[in-house]
Amino acid sequence: MKILNQLYEGKAKQVFATEDPAIVMVHYKDDATAGDGAKKGTIRDKGVVNNRLSNALMQKLEKAGIPTHYVQELNDRDTLVKRVEIVPLEVIIRNVAAGSFSKRFGVAEGTALAIPTIEFSYKNDDLHDPMINRYHALALNLATAQELDQITDMAFRINDILRQILLAANIRLIDFKLEFGRLPDGTIILADEISPDTCRFWDATTGAHLDKDLFRRDLGGEADAYQEVMRRLVTE
Ligand code: UDP
Repeated sequence: MKILNQLYEGKAKQVFATEDPAIVMVHYKDDATAGDGAKKGTIRDKGVVNNRLSNALMQKLEKAGIPTHYVQELNDRDTLVKRVEIVPLEVIIRNVAAGSFSKRFGVAEGTALAIPTIEFSYKNDDLHDPMINRYHALALNLATAQELDQITDMAFRINDILRQILLAANIRLIDFKLEFGRLPDGTIILADEISPDTCRFWDATTGAHLDKDLFRRDLGGEADAYQEVMRRLVTE
């Protein structure tokens, strides 16, 4: 597949056109940001871990019946994915209180939630991705009611599948962020990435952070933690 011009550059990834208009190539960088861009840095080989781990998890989700954008891993940092129109929502699922949930609702980090919960943020950098509800999303024409139903149903199914996969690797899935896209025929599929940048992973025995919170909170050891997650979850 011939790789053509760059279409987009984000904080952690670049996207390139290919000779097939239905396929784009994602390139994963080591660049990391936190606190709405206030903190910038790099995490050694983060791009390799996120690329390989996200691809491995998406392939497992596909096998479990979740449609994803994954097409083909080209090398350690580059992957072909289906071209979609991204639904401008960050879909967050939480099993355990942490981060903004703990702050907003005054619940200690690590408190198990009575049931898994979902929230949406409006993907808009100028507005700093404000939290919105289903009715806001409908009022702003961000998605249809049917799409929001599908996204919600898929997100909770993804949670069930990922929790099992992670627990088998002795990792607790605290919370995570998903993004969905529309294919030209309107089908909703899972897009973006599933990685230690977008999930909170805690060691199930020690409770140690194995995710981007090490970088966000200046705790250190993030590069090694990313490698550890890949070692536990990516076989072959
Ligand atoms: N998250 C993300 N991108 C964002 C915001 C959050 O991937 O722009 C992920 C984050 O890694 C965590 C979950 O979504 O797994 C919930 O994050 P939270 O709302 O607690 O925000 P934070 O405390 O990270 O600001």
